[in-house]
Amino acid sequence: MLELENIVKEYLTPDETVTALKGITLKFRKSEFVSVLGPSGCGKTTLLNIIGGLDRYTSGDLAIDGKSTKLYTDKDWDVYRNHSIGFVFQSYNLIPHQTVAENVELALTLAGVSTAERRERAKKALEKVGLGNKLNVRPNQLSGGQKQRIAIARALAMEPEVMLFDEPTSALDPEMIKEVLDVMIELAREGMTMLIVTHEMGFAKNVATRILFMNDGKILEDEKPEEFFNNPKHSRTKEFLYKVLNK
Ligand code: ADP
Ligand code: MG
Repeated sequence: MLELENIVKEYLTPDETVTALKGITLKFRKSEFVSVLGPSGCGKTTLLNIIGGLDRYTSGDLAIDGKSTKLYTDKDWDVYRNHSIGFVFQSYNLIPHQTVAENVELALTLAGVSTAERRERAKKALEKVGLGNKLNVRPNQLSGGQKQRIAIARALAMEPEVMLFDEPTSALDPEMIKEVLDVMIELAREGMTMLIVTHEMGFAKNVATRILFMNDGKILEDEKPEEFFNNPKHSRTKEFLYKVLNK
């Protein structure tokens, strides 16, 4: 469904050109649950942003359902982002003075969904993340874990084909991480296609169906978790993982 071919991403800054992605070639199938690992600054966020149409590649191609995006207009990217992709970030980006339900409905309103349908879709999405009883409260009365679940519901309400998570649990207290991961596990069980940047190693090891290990703008490893975590050849990778695990 998604195919990256030799994707390069350069950022031009006043002092230098940073090459954040140095030729990434990857294919994603439906219902894959991909965990993206790698040290800070290796290009994980850039990769997600490009896959999700939030940012443009410098060269290469991203094919969506077999169709090249080289000639995509801004409008084509808008349609792709709104209809195919659900994004969840480390920060929840909720509007504090609106209710939980209104936060989830906002994107639907912008997309022109009728009032009745967006009420229904927001309610359904919030029930799915276990917040069906919080529709009319304001986000600042809720915990970090609950806020992140609202953000997941907001993405789900758009009925995306692919969900992208960029360090969704990094800002959470340890006791709240599980409730967010449990929602993602449930989505995986239902066959949602997901890419997750996470440092939750247990999660990557036991739940993901595929591990991508990045370093310096490149994919170093692309394999099943059992191969990745058991392969002795990955000693450098492991060194990194242990550092992350022990931090
Ligand atoms: P990660 O998510 O793995 O920590 P990023 O994708 O955020 O890494 O960043 C990859 C590289 O690209 C880093 O060197 C970072 O400094 C650089 N970079 C990311 N975004 C920008 C930007 N908007 N402008 C300039 N450089 C950027
Ligand atoms: Mg990042």
